[in-house]
Amino acid sequence: MTDQALSGRVALVTGGTRGIGLATARALVEAGATVVLTGRDEARAKEAAASVGASGLALDVTDAKAVSSLVRGVAKEHGKLDIVVANAGIMEDALLGMIREEAVDTTLSTNVAGTLHTVQAAARAMMRKKTGSIVVLASIVGEYGSAGQTLYAASKAAVANIARSAAKELGRSGIRVNAVAPGVIETDLTAGLSEDAKAENASRTPLGRLGRPEEVAKAIRFLVSDEASFITGQVLGIDGGLVL
Ligand code: NDP
Repeated sequence: MTDQALSGRVALVTGGTRGIGLATARALVEAGATVVLTGRDEARAKEAAASVGASGLALDVTDAKAVSSLVRGVAKEHGKLDIVVANAGIMEDALLGMIREEAVDTTLSTNVAGTLHTVQAAARAMMRKKTGSIVVLASIVGEYGSAGQTLYAASKAAVANIARSAAKELGRSGIRVNAVAPGVIETDLTAGLSEDAKAENASRTPLGRLGRPEEVAKAIRFLVSDEASFITGQVLGIDGGLVL
């Protein structure tokens, strides 16, 4: 991709305060985009945004009205919205019999409903200009399943199908929707994995290591760029070959 390939584009990244979201915000800024990132806490969002040259706003993606109004506000302030990365997500691992009812609610409302709200609002904002690109964060476990992760895997399977279905619905409006399905990436989300579990994942990965947030961010930057102009409805694995 050429330098400044996203110059003049306006982008929104949800859950951009750390990990993959922050790396994505940074990668989009480096490619010339004007970027707004969000997190649940305003001060944290602003601090993270300042560290990468973006602007930061508070948003809880479980709140449909708040998502709709924030997306409308960003599009109004900048005159348009070209790129939306629905990245906000949570993970709570538990064996089937140990899944907490509260975790069912929070996981589904954040990962599934939160992504749906974001894609809905993005589509509304992009529809008028008949152009735009949306990326959602699925996971390899959503594609292949994972013992001890039934709840999270179910939520991420739903996210992948939000991308596929929205791509079918929005293609005629010039809006592309894709998902990335990362393997194990070293962020706060996976920080709780034991060293043994990390080593085991790394040894099962053909590339012999875990992934870095920047490596997911580069794939997202590709998908939202014109380089991917005929790619929609795809779920791109970024896992070092782990699922092979
Ligand atoms: P982190 O835990 O490092 O970051 C999660 C981000 O989501 C934070 O910025 C957090 O912001 C935000 N967030 C969480 N809940 C909400 C909410 N209700 N409303 C708004 N923002 C919220 O996670 P990762 O960077 O690792 O993961 C990013 C995405 O990638 C997630 O969707 C995750 O499921 C997915 N993924 C990650 C993998 C990995 O191995 N790391 C593998 C596969 C998929 P704050 O706390 O500041 O509000």
